[in-house]
Amino acid sequence: MRIVFLGAPGSGKGTQAKRLMDEHGLVQISTGDLLRAAVAAGTELGLKAKAAMDAGELVTDDIVLGIIAERLAQDDCKAGFILDGYPRNLQQAEDLQPVLKNIGQSLDAAVLLDVDMDILMKRLTGRRTCSKTGKLLNVYFSSPEELKACTDAGGELIQRADDNEETIANRLKVYREQTEPLIDFYRAAGLLKTVAGEGDIDAIYAQLKQTLGL
Ligand code: AMP
Repeated sequence: MRIVFLGAPGSGKGTQAKRLMDEHGLVQISTGDLLRAAVAAGTELGLKAKAAMDAGELVTDDIVLGIIAERLAQDDCKAGFILDGYPRNLQQAEDLQPVLKNIGQSLDAAVLLDVDMDILMKRLTGRRTCSKTGKLLNVYFSSPEELKACTDAGGELIQRADDNEETIANRLKVYREQTEPLIDFYRAAGLLKTVAGEGDIDAIYAQLKQTLGL
């Protein structure tokens, strides 16, 4: 199965994609993760991407197209994939089509994880990753036990560089202006499926699987 995940920053795309990857063998391809890895490794591509990422702006279409084309050409994607955070504007949605054609594949669905803006803000400002276990946590929504389990294991709760209030506000603005038009794009293509992305993570996941017929 080949899926695009739509949804604002903080809508839970990464969390839900990871579960589909673990349980259904789909490869999660997050352009955000790939870009952060390039920044951390100090590659030329990372250096080009960093300023836009720090400001909450989109990295240029040609940079992300290069990343996504290279990743999709790898063997493990033949079993199916989830694009998490790509495409993010209409140009990228157009760019994706020949890339998929080249590898002889097409999309089965574009899933919109629908979440209210005020909830998104809390999810993003509260978001942390445990440095030891890699677990995604949230200082507002995770239980004290879950947060303590990280520090007890010798980990630290790390906040992403672009999860500060100013950058978050800009990322949400960029989403509304540039990414939201993709909802109509995929609706017109007959691929759009909407899942309410609020509430319990397990319940959202169950709804997602049902929507996808998994
Ligand atoms: P994410 O982890 O998906 O929230 O992405 C973090 C940042 O990486 C975004 O705010 C952008 O600066 C950049 N980024 C990720 N995916 C894309 C994309 N498809 N197009 C342009 N920039 C992207």
